[in-house]
Amino acid sequence: MHALFFLKVVDKIQTCAQVDMVVSAEFPSPKDNPILFETVKSVMVHGPCGARNSNAPCLDNNGRCGKRYPRAFAERTTMDQDGYPIYRHRNDDRVYTVKGQDVDNRDVVPYNAYLSQMFNCHINVEVCVGMRCVKYIHKYIYKGHDHHTTMVLGGIDEIQQYIDSRYIGPPEAARRILGHNLHEEFPTVVRLALYLPGMHHVVFDETESMNSIIYRAGGKMSTLTGYFACCTSNEFARAFTYQEFPQHCCLA
Ligand SMILES: [Zn+2]
Repeated sequence: MHALFFLKVVDKIQTCAQVDMVVSAEFPSPKDNPILFETVKSVMVHGPCGARNSNAPCLDNNGRCGKRYPRAFAERTTMDQDGYPIYRHRNDDRVYTVKGQDVDNRDVVPYNAYLSQMFNCHINVEVCVGMRCVKYIHKYIYKGHDHHTTMVLGGIDEIQQYIDSRYIGPPEAARRILGHNLHEEFPTVVRLALYLPGMHHVVFDETESMNSIIYRAGGKMSTLTGYFACCTSNEFARAFTYQEFPQHCCLA
């Protein structure tokens, strides 16, 4: 499961110090925090992959880890230009053995100490502060169902060679049987049109007459003209900027 939580403006995580308060990507102290340490060591260490395990599923054809582990040591948390935090992985000389291999802070997947200690399972927690990472996480909601492909080696039937099948796991099956929503999204996320007067997009069929195209295009509202129209007639709407508007009013 992937979940993206939007925080209220006053609670938004904006500084590296705030990131450190919520997310950690290092081994906790086994002496001060033995329960959390055991959880992190058993479920929050990536791989090991690369030279330590050349059969790891995260490796590409060149033997590089698709998840970019082990990460570089970093003395402090920083943000890259796309708003992805580069979490603190300090070099404190501690080395532990996981699956028979040496691992250190560079191999730790970001986690929240409170959640990991409470649930004792793999919960990867990251801070999304830029548009690129928000878009990335939304991909999981919209990419569709999980599929798997079965390949029949040696066969000459091109249809049988690749079978595109659909997999529904037990949790999804149960939710469908009980009629629950498969995903929910709050606040509303919509694409807001932005253009100069008379420069809006019009989709038309090339066989359609010009009069019909002009008539149809003239009668259609975009999110931008809908916003202006709403602000003209509704005093409540005027309190919000165009960007804030979908969170409070319906643009449909
Ligand atoms: Zn890897």
